[in-house]
Amino acid sequence: MADVSSYEHTGDGVERRVLLAGPRSFCAGVERAIEIVERALEQRGAPVYVRKQIVHNVTVVDDLAGRGAVFVEELDEVPDRATVVFSAHGVSPAVRQEADRRGLDVIDGTCPLVAKVHAEARRFAARGDTVVLVGHAGHEEVEGTLGEAPESMVLVSTPDEARELSTAVGGQVSYLTQTTLAVDETAEVVGALKEKFPLLQEPPSDDICYATTNRQAALKAIVAESDLVLVIGSENSSNSVRLVELAHREGTRAELIDRAGDIRPEWLAGVRTVGLTAGASAPPALVTEVVTRLGAFGPVRVEEREIARETVRFDLPSPVRGDTRRTADGRSS
Ligand code: SF4
Repeated sequence: MADVSSYEHTGDGVERRVLLAGPRSFCAGVERAIEIVERALEQRGAPVYVRKQIVHNVTVVDDLAGRGAVFVEELDEVPDRATVVFSAHGVSPAVRQEADRRGLDVIDGTCPLVAKVHAEARRFAARGDTVVLVGHAGHEEVEGTLGEAPESMVLVSTPDEARELSTAVGGQVSYLTQTTLAVDETAEVVGALKEKFPLLQEPPSDDICYATTNRQAALKAIVAESDLVLVIGSENSSNSVRLVELAHREGTRAELIDRAGDIRPEWLAGVRTVGLTAGASAPPALVTEVVTRLGAFGPVRVEEREIARETVRFDLPSPVRGDTRRTADGRSS
């Protein structure tokens, strides 16, 4: 953690406690996706195209863009036979087929936990189910999952939408969820589905991923003691936005910030304890920067509350596995 004692106090001089939620920041799927782009740049040289933001964080995207990654919305912006990385959020089969047809050198950055939901969608649809996907319309992950079986799947995001399904679907009904939803709200939607469809088939294990679940539980453990919660993450980061909503639901003021410079002095008026967390796509270094920035307003005392230790790691896909090794500071060598 940054030593803030040497910073000039330009703020109100009030001593504050910073409660750090743990776990926070990068998950295994995000680390893997970033390493895939880094290795592709090292092994193939720039430019390496990336379909959509590799992860939903402006700091990560700006950093990789500065090193030669070219972020595009769709494959028609990628030259034939160029290297393209699919983002952590996954793609639909139609996108894979298009890449094949174009002879693109594809490296798949889809998080294995998103790929698990895709596989479930294919399996449930193949046995004839109507598959209800609980998620947010327009999110890239949802578009990719729906694309696995568009004729068999229906999207809902609220308990009311789930209740309205009763006349729209028939046969065996199963459900899946987006990986980055609010745990509590999703339980309400699933509860409504179970009321309508008592024989509702469940996924074999939770689709909301371990990282989303842990970050929400970690924030819950500090939110009641916090006068203000700061969530580091970008506006399009689903799991980060869910953390802000969780704090609001618990009755605590919360702000989503991309970087330390986004903190407004007026937010800190009357605040003695700042709860601090970061979404799964936000780099850990930003947490250090935010603590440092808070130290410029007045002395800070940092306490960490770690509710779980994460040890999940995912293998890299074979096209970039190579023999590159990580150095002690986590960068590729
Ligand atoms: S938030 Fe979960 S599903 Fe998304 S990349 Fe991270 S581990 Fe994978």
